[in-house]
Amino acid sequence: MLGEMDTELWIDNRAVAALSGETFETMNPATGVALAKLPRARREDVELAVASASKAFTGWSQTDPNERARILWKAGELVMSKLEELAQLEVLDTGKPIASARLIDVPRTADTFFYFSGWATKLGGETIPVRGPFLNYTVREPLGVIGAIIPWNFPLLLAARKIAPALAVGNTVVIKPPEEASLTTLALARIMAEAGVPEGVVNVLTGYGEEVGAALVEHPGVAKISFTGGTETGKIIMRAAAGTLKRLSLELGGKSPNIVFADADVAAAASAAVTAAFYNQGELCTAGSRLLVDRAVHDQVLETVARGARALVPGDPLDAKTQMGPLISAEHRDKVLGFVKAGESEGAKREAGDPRPGGDAGYFVNPTVFSGVAEKMTIAREEIFGPVLSFDSLEDAARIASATEFGLAAGVWTRDIGKAHMLAARLRAGTVWINTYNRFDAASPYGGYKQSGFGRENGRAVLDELTQLKSVWVALT
Ligand code: NAD
Repeated sequence: MLGEMDTELWIDNRAVAALSGETFETMNPATGVALAKLPRARREDVELAVASASKAFTGWSQTDPNERARILWKAGELVMSKLEELAQLEVLDTGKPIASARLIDVPRTADTFFYFSGWATKLGGETIPVRGPFLNYTVREPLGVIGAIIPWNFPLLLAARKIAPALAVGNTVVIKPPEEASLTTLALARIMAEAGVPEGVVNVLTGYGEEVGAALVEHPGVAKISFTGGTETGKIIMRAAAGTLKRLSLELGGKSPNIVFADADVAAAASAAVTAAFYNQGELCTAGSRLLVDRAVHDQVLETVARGARALVPGDPLDAKTQMGPLISAEHRDKVLGFVKAGESEGAKREAGDPRPGGDAGYFVNPTVFSGVAEKMTIAREEIFGPVLSFDSLEDAARIASATEFGLAAGVWTRDIGKAHMLAARLRAGTVWINTYNRFDAASPYGGYKQSGFGRENGRAVLDELTQLKSVWVALT
Protein backbone atom coordinates (compact mmCIF):
# COMPACT_ATOMS: atom_id res chain seq x y z
CA MET A 1 0.00 0.00 0.00
CA LEU A 2 2.83 2.33 0.93
CA GLY A 3 4.03 4.28 -2.11
CA GLU A 4 7.30 6.15 -2.56
CA MET A 5 8.37 8.13 0.49
CA ASP A 6 8.99 11.84 0.12
CA THR A 7 12.51 12.41 1.38
CA GLU A 8 13.44 15.90 0.22
CA LEU A 9 12.75 19.40 1.48
CA TRP A 10 9.61 21.01 0.06
CA ILE A 11 10.13 24.59 -1.09
CA ASP A 12 8.03 26.42 -3.70
CA ASN A 13 6.06 23.20 -4.36
CA ARG A 14 9.25 21.43 -5.36
CA ALA A 15 11.24 18.64 -3.74
CA VAL A 16 14.82 19.82 -3.19
CA ALA A 17 17.93 18.70 -1.30
CA ALA A 18 19.45 20.78 1.50
CA LEU A 19 21.91 23.32 0.07
CA SER A 20 24.73 21.67 2.03
CA GLY A 21 23.80 18.28 0.56
CA GLU A 22 23.88 16.86 4.12
CA THR A 23 21.37 14.31 5.37
CA PHE A 24 20.35 12.56 8.59
CA GLU A 25 18.59 9.27 9.21
CA THR A 26 15.06 8.72 10.44
CA MET A 27 14.51 5.43 12.27
CA ASN A 28 11.68 2.96 12.60
CA PRO A 29 11.20 2.85 16.41
CA ALA A 30 9.71 -0.65 16.25
CA THR A 31 12.89 -2.12 14.78
CA GLY A 32 15.62 0.43 15.40
CA VAL A 33 16.44 0.23 11.68
CA ALA A 34 16.86 3.34 9.50
CA LEU A 35 13.80 4.18 7.40
CA ALA A 36 15.06 6.98 5.22
CA LYS A 37 17.71 9.67 4.79
CA LEU A 38 16.36 13.21 5.02
CA PRO A 39 17.94 16.58 4.20
CA ARG A 40 19.62 18.32 7.13
CA ALA A 41 18.39 21.86 6.47
CA ARG A 42 20.20 24.82 7.96
CA ARG A 43 20.06 28.61 8.01
CA GLU A 44 20.60 28.97 4.24
CA ASP A 45 17.64 26.68 3.51
CA VAL A 46 15.54 28.75 5.93
CA GLU A 47 16.44 31.80 3.82
CA LEU A 48 15.10 30.10 0.69
CA ALA A 49 11.92 28.81 2.30
CA VAL A 50 11.08 32.10 4.02
CA ALA A 51 11.74 34.00 0.79
CA SER A 52 9.40 31.64 -1.03
CA ALA A 53 6.69 31.96 1.65
CA SER A 54 7.05 35.77 1.76
CA LYS A 55 6.70 36.01 -2.01
CA ALA A 56 3.64 33.78 -1.96
CA PHE A 57 1.98 35.74 0.86
CA THR A 58 0.79 38.66 -1.29
CA GLY A 59 -1.07 36.42 -3.72
CA TRP A 60 -2.41 33.94 -1.17
CA SER A 61 -3.67 36.60 1.26
CA GLN A 62 -5.60 38.21 -1.60
CA THR A 63 -6.97 34.97 -3.00
CA ASP A 64 -10.77 34.81 -3.02
CA PRO A 65 -11.71 33.28 0.38
CA ASN A 66 -14.03 30.86 -1.42
CA GLU A 67 -11.04 29.56 -3.35
CA ARG A 68 -9.01 29.13 -0.15
CA ALA A 69 -11.97 27.29 1.38
CA ARG A 70 -12.25 25.01 -1.66
CA ILE A 71 -8.54 24.13 -1.55
CA LEU A 72 -8.60 23.33 2.18
CA TRP A 73 -11.70 21.15 1.76
CA LYS A 74 -10.01 19.36 -1.12
CA ALA A 75 -6.92 18.77 1.07
CA GLY A 76 -9.17 17.09 3.65
CA GLU A 77 -10.68 14.88 0.96
CA LEU A 78 -7.25 13.92 -0.37
CA VAL A 79 -6.08 13.05 3.16
CA MET A 80 -9.06 10.70 3.52
CA SER A 81 -8.44 9.17 0.11
CA LYS A 82 -4.86 8.35 1.22
CA LEU A 83 -5.88 7.18 4.68
CA GLU A 84 -4.13 3.82 4.57
CA GLU A 85 -0.92 5.15 3.05
CA LEU A 86 -0.66 8.01 5.56
CA ALA A 87 -1.53 5.73 8.49
CA GLN A 88 1.22 3.26 7.53
CA LEU A 89 3.76 6.02 7.06
CA GLU A 90 2.93 7.51 10.47
CA VAL A 91 3.25 4.08 12.09
CA LEU A 92 6.62 3.34 10.49
CA ASP A 93 7.95 6.71 11.57
CA THR A 94 6.46 7.06 15.10
CA GLY A 95 5.70 3.48 16.22
CA LYS A 96 2.09 4.29 17.15
CA PRO A 97 -0.42 1.45 16.69
CA ILE A 98 -1.93 1.32 13.22
CA ALA A 99 -5.46 1.02 14.63
CA SER A 100 -5.09 4.48 16.25
CA ALA A 101 -3.49 5.97 13.17
CA ARG A 102 -6.44 4.76 11.06
CA LEU A 103 -9.08 5.80 13.56
CA ILE A 104 -7.65 9.04 14.97
CA ASP A 105 -4.54 10.55 13.37
CA VAL A 106 -5.59 10.50 9.73
CA PRO A 107 -9.36 11.18 10.03
CA ARG A 108 -8.75 14.00 12.57
CA THR A 109 -6.22 15.49 10.17
CA ALA A 110 -8.91 15.56 7.48
CA ASP A 111 -11.44 17.03 9.95
CA THR A 112 -9.02 19.84 10.70
CA PHE A 113 -9.00 20.83 7.02
CA PHE A 114 -12.78 20.51 6.74
CA TYR A 115 -13.35 22.65 9.84
CA PHE A 116 -10.93 25.46 8.91
CA SER A 117 -12.12 25.45 5.30
CA GLY A 118 -15.36 26.92 6.65
CA TRP A 119 -13.60 29.78 8.43
CA ALA A 120 -11.89 31.06 5.26
CA THR A 121 -15.13 32.81 4.29
CA LYS A 122 -16.33 33.82 7.75
CA LEU A 123 -13.79 35.92 9.58
CA GLY A 124 -14.95 39.55 9.47
CA GLY A 125 -14.47 42.74 11.48
CA GLU A 126 -16.88 45.06 13.29
CA THR A 127 -18.22 48.55 12.95
CA ILE A 128 -17.62 50.55 16.13
CA PRO A 129 -19.95 53.34 17.36
CA VAL A 130 -17.31 56.09 17.87
CA ARG A 131 -17.82 59.72 18.84
CA GLY A 132 -18.13 62.26 15.98
CA PRO A 133 -18.96 62.11 12.27
CA PHE A 134 -16.79 59.12 11.55
CA LEU A 135 -17.21 55.58 10.36
CA ASN A 136 -14.85 53.31 12.30
CA TYR A 137 -14.49 49.69 11.34
CA THR A 138 -12.06 46.86 11.97
CA VAL A 139 -10.59 44.28 9.66
CA ARG A 140 -8.71 41.13 10.56
CA GLU A 141 -5.60 40.78 8.42
CA PRO A 142 -3.22 37.81 8.15
CA LEU A 143 0.20 38.11 9.78
CA GLY A 144 2.45 36.89 6.94
CA VAL A 145 4.81 33.92 7.15
CA ILE A 146 4.05 31.54 10.02
CA GLY A 147 6.94 29.38 11.26
CA ALA A 148 5.49 26.13 12.59
CA ILE A 149 7.51 23.71 14.73
CA ILE A 150 6.02 20.39 15.82
CA PRO A 151 6.94 17.34 17.95
CA TRP A 152 6.96 13.64 17.15
CA ASN A 153 3.91 12.30 18.94
CA PHE A 154 1.22 13.31 16.40
CA PRO A 155 3.22 14.80 13.53
CA LEU A 156 0.59 14.56 10.78
CA LEU A 157 -2.28 15.85 12.91
CA LEU A 158 -0.21 18.63 14.45
CA ALA A 159 1.07 19.69 11.02
CA ALA A 160 -2.58 20.03 9.92
CA ARG A 161 -3.41 22.00 13.09
CA LYS A 162 -0.74 24.51 12.17
CA ILE A 163 -1.27 24.64 8.40
CA ALA A 164 -5.08 24.61 8.03
CA PRO A 165 -6.00 27.66 10.18
CA ALA A 166 -2.95 29.63 8.99
CA LEU A 167 -3.91 29.14 5.33
CA ALA A 168 -7.63 29.70 5.94
CA VAL A 169 -7.00 33.32 6.96
CA GLY A 170 -4.37 34.03 4.28
CA ASN A 171 -1.00 33.32 5.90
CA THR A 172 1.76 31.21 4.37
CA VAL A 173 3.73 28.58 6.29
CA VAL A 174 7.23 27.21 6.73
CA ILE A 175 6.96 24.07 8.83
CA LYS A 176 9.73 22.19 10.63
CA PRO A 177 8.69 18.64 11.47
CA PRO A 178 10.40 16.69 14.27
CA GLU A 179 13.69 15.08 13.27
CA GLU A 180 12.37 11.75 14.62
CA ALA A 181 9.29 11.70 12.37
CA SER A 182 9.16 14.02 9.35
CA LEU A 183 7.67 11.77 6.69
CA THR A 184 3.96 12.53 6.98
CA THR A 185 4.57 16.29 7.02
CA LEU A 186 6.42 15.91 3.72
CA ALA A 187 3.56 13.78 2.35
CA LEU A 188 1.05 16.39 3.54
CA ALA A 189 2.91 19.17 1.72
CA ARG A 190 2.48 17.25 -1.55
CA ILE A 191 -1.19 16.74 -0.78
CA MET A 192 -1.58 20.49 -0.27
CA ALA A 193 -0.01 21.11 -3.69
CA GLU A 194 -2.31 18.50 -5.24
CA ALA A 195 -5.26 20.26 -3.61
CA GLY A 196 -4.27 23.47 -5.40
CA VAL A 197 -2.09 25.37 -2.91
CA PRO A 198 0.16 27.67 -4.99
CA GLU A 199 3.98 27.61 -4.84
CA GLY A 200 5.48 28.91 -1.62
CA VAL A 201 2.31 28.78 0.49
CA VAL A 202 3.42 25.62 2.33
CA ASN A 203 7.12 24.81 2.73
CA VAL A 204 8.73 22.02 4.75
CA LEU A 205 12.26 22.03 6.19
CA THR A 206 13.53 18.84 7.78
CA GLY A 207 16.49 18.86 10.15
CA TYR A 208 17.52 19.46 13.74
CA GLY A 209 15.78 21.81 16.14
CA GLU A 210 18.93 23.65 17.22
CA GLU A 211 19.87 24.24 13.58
CA VAL A 212 16.93 24.74 11.24
CA GLY A 213 14.37 25.26 14.04
CA ALA A 214 16.45 27.94 15.74
CA ALA A 215 17.14 29.69 12.39
CA LEU A 216 13.40 29.80 11.66
CA VAL A 217 12.68 31.32 15.09
CA GLU A 218 15.33 34.03 14.58
CA HIS A 219 14.41 34.91 11.00
CA PRO A 220 13.11 38.50 10.68
CA GLY A 221 10.86 37.49 7.77
CA VAL A 222 8.80 35.15 9.99
CA ALA A 223 5.87 36.96 11.61
CA LYS A 224 4.96 34.32 14.15
CA ILE A 225 6.22 31.04 15.57
CA SER A 226 3.57 28.49 16.39
CA PHE A 227 5.36 25.88 18.48
CA THR A 228 4.28 22.56 19.97
CA GLY A 229 6.83 20.65 22.00
CA GLY A 230 8.58 20.48 25.34
CA THR A 231 8.48 23.24 27.99
CA GLU A 232 12.26 23.71 28.09
CA THR A 233 12.39 24.12 24.29
CA GLY A 234 9.49 26.59 24.58
CA LYS A 235 11.58 28.74 26.92
CA ILE A 236 14.55 28.71 24.53
CA ILE A 237 12.25 29.72 21.67
CA MET A 238 10.68 32.52 23.67
CA ARG A 239 14.09 34.00 24.41
CA ALA A 240 15.18 33.63 20.77
CA ALA A 241 11.98 35.22 19.43
CA ALA A 242 12.59 38.36 21.51
CA GLY A 243 15.25 39.51 19.02
CA THR A 244 12.64 40.18 16.35
CA LEU A 245 9.65 40.58 18.71
CA LYS A 246 7.72 38.04 16.70
CA ARG A 247 4.44 36.65 17.92
CA LEU A 248 4.47 33.30 19.63
CA SER A 249 2.11 30.58 20.61
CA LEU A 250 3.48 27.77 22.72
CA GLU A 251 1.76 24.41 23.23
CA LEU A 252 3.98 22.74 25.80
CA GLY A 253 4.15 19.81 28.18
CA GLY A 254 1.77 18.67 30.89
CA LYS A 255 1.42 16.55 34.00
CA SER A 256 -2.32 16.31 33.92
CA PRO A 257 -4.30 15.18 36.96
CA ASN A 258 -7.12 12.71 36.45
CA ILE A 259 -9.28 12.89 39.59
CA VAL A 260 -11.59 10.04 40.59
CA PHE A 261 -14.12 10.64 43.40
CA ALA A 262 -15.79 7.80 45.28
CA ASP A 263 -19.21 8.95 44.00
CA ALA A 264 -18.17 8.42 40.34
CA ASP A 265 -18.96 5.44 38.15
CA VAL A 266 -15.72 4.03 39.53
CA ALA A 267 -15.45 1.10 37.12
CA ALA A 268 -15.80 3.39 34.10
CA ALA A 269 -13.37 5.92 35.57
CA ALA A 270 -10.77 3.25 36.33
CA SER A 271 -10.86 1.70 32.90
CA ALA A 272 -10.77 5.14 31.23
CA ALA A 273 -7.78 6.01 33.42
CA VAL A 274 -5.74 3.34 31.64
CA THR A 275 -6.37 4.89 28.22
CA ALA A 276 -5.94 8.39 29.66
CA ALA A 277 -2.42 7.47 30.80
CA PHE A 278 -1.25 5.09 28.09
CA TYR A 279 -2.94 6.11 24.85
CA ASN A 280 -0.21 6.57 22.22
CA GLN A 281 2.31 4.84 24.59
CA GLY A 282 1.69 7.68 27.04
CA GLU A 283 3.35 9.98 24.48
CA LEU A 284 0.56 12.51 24.68
CA CYS A 285 0.94 15.96 26.15
CA THR A 286 -2.43 15.63 27.92
CA ALA A 287 -1.75 12.09 29.23
CA GLY A 288 -3.56 11.61 32.54
CA SER A 289 -0.22 10.87 34.13
CA ARG A 290 -1.22 11.70 37.72
CA LEU A 291 -4.18 9.65 38.80
CA LEU A 292 -5.69 11.16 41.97
CA VAL A 293 -8.04 8.73 43.67
CA ASP A 294 -10.43 9.23 46.58
CA ARG A 295 -8.94 7.17 49.41
CA ALA A 296 -12.27 5.34 49.79
CA VAL A 297 -11.95 3.72 46.34
CA HIS A 298 -8.17 3.78 46.00
CA ASP A 299 -7.58 0.02 46.13
CA GLN A 300 -10.42 -0.78 43.73
CA VAL A 301 -9.21 1.78 41.15
CA LEU A 302 -5.57 0.80 41.53
CA GLU A 303 -6.36 -2.85 40.93
CA THR A 304 -8.28 -2.12 37.70
CA VAL A 305 -5.63 0.30 36.43
CA ALA A 306 -2.73 -2.07 37.16
CA ARG A 307 -4.59 -4.94 35.49
CA GLY A 308 -5.40 -2.75 32.49
CA ALA A 309 -1.79 -1.62 32.18
CA ARG A 310 -0.49 -5.20 32.40
CA ALA A 311 -2.87 -6.17 29.59
CA LEU A 312 -1.33 -3.54 27.28
CA VAL A 313 1.55 -5.62 26.00
CA PRO A 314 3.71 -3.68 23.55
CA GLY A 315 3.75 -5.23 20.10
CA ASP A 316 4.29 -4.67 16.37
CA PRO A 317 2.58 -1.34 15.66
CA LEU A 318 1.61 -2.50 12.16
CA ASP A 319 -0.53 -5.28 13.67
CA ALA A 320 -4.14 -4.05 13.86
CA LYS A 321 -4.56 -5.72 17.28
CA THR A 322 -1.62 -3.89 18.90
CA GLN A 323 -2.63 -1.29 21.49
CA MET A 324 0.84 -0.20 22.57
CA GLY A 325 3.78 0.41 20.27
CA PRO A 326 7.42 1.29 20.99
CA LEU A 327 8.52 4.68 22.28
CA ILE A 328 9.84 7.13 19.72
CA SER A 329 13.60 6.70 20.22
CA ALA A 330 16.29 4.91 22.20
CA GLU A 331 17.00 8.20 23.96
CA HIS A 332 13.37 8.63 25.03
CA ARG A 333 13.16 5.00 26.15
CA ASP A 334 16.22 5.47 28.35
CA LYS A 335 14.74 8.65 29.81
CA VAL A 336 11.50 6.83 30.66
CA LEU A 337 13.37 3.89 32.21
CA GLY A 338 15.37 6.41 34.25
CA PHE A 339 12.08 7.78 35.66
CA VAL A 340 10.94 4.26 36.51
CA LYS A 341 14.18 3.78 38.44
CA ALA A 342 13.71 7.12 40.21
CA GLY A 343 10.17 6.07 41.23
CA GLU A 344 11.50 2.90 42.81
CA SER A 345 14.47 4.50 44.52
CA GLU A 346 12.27 7.30 45.96
CA GLY A 347 10.06 4.64 47.56
CA ALA A 348 7.00 4.31 45.27
CA LYS A 349 5.61 0.82 44.66
CA ARG A 350 5.56 -0.51 41.09
CA GLU A 351 2.16 -2.14 40.53
CA ALA A 352 2.53 -2.89 36.82
CA GLY A 353 5.29 -2.72 34.28
CA ASP A 354 8.23 -5.03 34.28
CA PRO A 355 10.95 -2.41 33.82
CA ARG A 356 12.65 -4.67 31.29
CA PRO A 357 11.70 -3.30 27.89
CA GLY A 358 9.35 -5.62 26.01
CA GLY A 359 10.25 -6.81 22.51
CA ASP A 360 13.65 -7.88 21.24
CA ALA A 361 14.41 -4.96 18.97
CA GLY A 362 13.02 -1.46 18.93
CA TYR A 363 12.34 1.00 21.73
CA PHE A 364 9.68 -0.85 23.72
CA VAL A 365 8.78 -0.18 27.36
CA ASN A 366 5.99 -1.86 29.31
CA PRO A 367 3.32 0.50 30.70
CA THR A 368 4.17 1.23 34.31
CA VAL A 369 1.91 2.08 37.27
CA PHE A 370 3.19 3.24 40.65
CA SER A 371 1.25 3.42 43.93
CA GLY A 372 2.30 4.94 47.24
CA VAL A 373 3.39 8.07 45.40
CA ALA A 374 4.14 11.19 47.43
CA GLU A 375 3.59 14.61 45.87
CA LYS A 376 7.27 15.52 46.01
CA MET A 377 8.54 12.47 44.13
CA THR A 378 10.10 12.95 40.69
CA ILE A 379 7.47 10.74 39.04
CA ALA A 380 4.67 12.94 40.45
CA ARG A 381 6.17 16.07 38.93
CA GLU A 382 7.98 15.21 35.69
CA GLU A 383 6.24 14.32 32.41
CA ILE A 384 6.19 10.57 32.87
CA PHE A 385 3.40 8.08 32.95
CA GLY A 386 1.93 6.04 35.74
CA PRO A 387 1.80 7.48 39.25
CA VAL A 388 -1.31 6.98 41.37
CA LEU A 389 -1.80 9.34 44.32
CA SER A 390 -4.63 9.36 46.84
CA PHE A 391 -6.63 12.24 48.34
CA ASP A 392 -9.13 12.63 51.18
CA SER A 393 -11.37 15.57 50.22
CA LEU A 394 -12.32 17.88 47.36
CA GLU A 395 -9.99 20.52 48.82
CA ASP A 396 -7.18 18.03 48.94
CA ALA A 397 -7.84 16.92 45.34
CA ALA A 398 -7.91 20.48 44.04
CA ARG A 399 -4.70 21.34 45.87
CA ILE A 400 -2.75 18.29 44.67
CA ALA A 401 -4.08 18.71 41.13
CA SER A 402 -2.76 22.27 40.93
CA ALA A 403 0.55 21.60 42.68
CA THR A 404 2.52 21.45 39.44
CA GLU A 405 4.07 24.01 37.16
CA PHE A 406 2.01 22.60 34.27
CA GLY A 407 -1.63 23.39 33.46
CA LEU A 408 -2.58 21.67 30.24
CA ALA A 409 -5.56 19.47 31.09
CA ALA A 410 -7.40 17.72 33.91
CA GLY A 411 -10.06 15.03 34.30
CA VAL A 412 -12.79 14.85 36.97
CA TRP A 413 -14.91 11.77 37.60
CA THR A 414 -17.98 12.26 39.83
CA ARG A 415 -21.77 11.92 39.65
CA ASP A 416 -22.17 15.09 41.73
CA ILE A 417 -22.78 17.80 39.17
CA GLY A 418 -22.09 20.61 41.62
CA LYS A 419 -18.73 19.16 42.57
CA ALA A 420 -17.85 18.63 38.90
CA HIS A 421 -18.49 22.28 38.01
CA MET A 422 -16.82 23.55 41.15
CA LEU A 423 -13.65 21.71 40.20
CA ALA A 424 -13.92 22.74 36.54
CA ALA A 425 -13.83 26.33 37.79
CA ARG A 426 -10.98 25.78 40.24
CA LEU A 427 -8.57 23.69 38.19
CA ARG A 428 -5.81 25.75 36.60
CA ALA A 429 -5.81 23.91 33.27
CA GLY A 430 -6.64 24.84 29.68
CA THR A 431 -8.98 21.86 29.25
CA VAL A 432 -11.13 20.09 31.85
CA TRP A 433 -12.87 16.81 31.03
CA ILE A 434 -15.79 15.68 33.21
CA ASN A 435 -16.57 11.96 33.21
CA THR A 436 -14.47 11.53 30.08
CA TYR A 437 -10.84 12.08 29.07
CA ASN A 438 -8.77 13.06 26.02
CA ARG A 439 -11.61 14.48 23.92
CA PHE A 440 -10.53 16.84 21.16
CA ASP A 441 -12.26 18.51 18.26
CA ALA A 442 -11.02 20.93 15.62
CA ALA A 443 -13.86 23.23 16.77
CA SER A 444 -12.86 23.31 20.45
CA PRO A 445 -10.06 25.62 21.67
CA TYR A 446 -7.07 23.88 23.14
CA GLY A 447 -3.98 25.10 24.98
CA GLY A 448 -2.21 25.52 28.27
CA TYR A 449 -2.25 27.45 31.54
CA LYS A 450 0.95 28.19 33.45
CA GLN A 451 4.08 26.54 32.00
CA SER A 452 2.04 24.43 29.60
CA GLY A 453 2.23 27.49 27.38
CA PHE A 454 -0.02 30.16 25.94
CA GLY A 455 -2.08 30.75 22.86
CA ARG A 456 -4.86 28.48 21.70
CA GLU A 457 -5.15 26.04 18.83
CA ASN A 458 -8.32 24.88 17.14
CA GLY A 459 -11.68 26.62 17.13
CA ARG A 460 -12.29 30.28 16.43
CA ALA A 461 -9.65 31.13 19.08
CA VAL A 462 -6.65 30.26 16.90
CA LEU A 463 -7.80 32.59 14.14
CA ASP A 464 -7.48 35.64 16.36
CA GLU A 465 -3.87 34.62 16.96
CA LEU A 466 -3.13 34.17 13.27
CA THR A 467 -4.47 37.59 12.31
CA GLN A 468 -3.99 41.17 13.42
CA LEU A 469 -6.66 43.78 13.91
CA LYS A 470 -6.68 47.01 11.93
CA SER A 471 -8.92 49.93 12.90
CA VAL A 472 -9.98 52.16 9.97
CA TRP A 473 -11.42 55.69 10.46
CA VAL A 474 -13.38 57.40 7.71
CA ALA A 475 -14.43 61.05 7.99
CA LEU A 476 -18.09 61.33 7.03
CA THR A 477 -18.10 65.10 6.47
P1 NAD B 1 11.01 19.10 21.71
O1 NAD B 1 10.67 20.37 22.39
O2 NAD B 1 12.32 18.48 21.96
O3 NAD B 1 10.91 19.25 20.13
C1 NAD B 1 9.78 19.78 19.49
C2 NAD B 1 10.22 20.44 18.19
O4 NAD B 1 11.05 21.55 18.48
C3 NAD B 1 11.03 19.52 17.27
O5 NAD B 1 10.64 19.74 15.94
C4 NAD B 1 12.46 20.00 17.51
O6 NAD B 1 13.29 19.76 16.42
C5 NAD B 1 12.23 21.49 17.70
N1 NAD B 1 13.30 22.18 18.43
C6 NAD B 1 14.14 21.67 19.38
N2 NAD B 1 14.99 22.62 19.80
C7 NAD B 1 14.70 23.75 19.14
C8 NAD B 1 15.23 25.07 19.15
N3 NAD B 1 16.23 25.44 19.94
N4 NAD B 1 14.67 26.00 18.34
C9 NAD B 1 13.64 25.66 17.54
N5 NAD B 1 13.10 24.42 17.47
C10 NAD B 1 13.62 23.48 18.27
O7 NAD B 1 9.81 18.15 22.09
P2 NAD B 1 9.65 16.63 21.69
O8 NAD B 1 10.48 15.85 22.64
O9 NAD B 1 9.78 16.44 20.23
O10 NAD B 1 8.09 16.47 22.00
C11 NAD B 1 7.58 16.07 23.23
C12 NAD B 1 7.05 17.26 24.01
O11 NAD B 1 6.01 17.91 23.29
C13 NAD B 1 6.44 16.81 25.30
O12 NAD B 1 6.86 17.70 26.30
C14 NAD B 1 4.94 16.96 25.05
O13 NAD B 1 4.18 17.16 26.20
C15 NAD B 1 4.92 18.15 24.16
N6 NAD B 1 3.67 18.23 23.41
C16 NAD B 1 2.79 19.26 23.68
C17 NAD B 1 1.59 19.34 23.00
C18 NAD B 1 0.61 20.43 23.29
O14 NAD B 1 -0.27 20.65 22.48
N7 NAD B 1 0.70 21.13 24.40
C19 NAD B 1 1.28 18.41 22.02
C20 NAD B 1 2.19 17.39 21.75
C21 NAD B 1 3.39 17.31 22.46
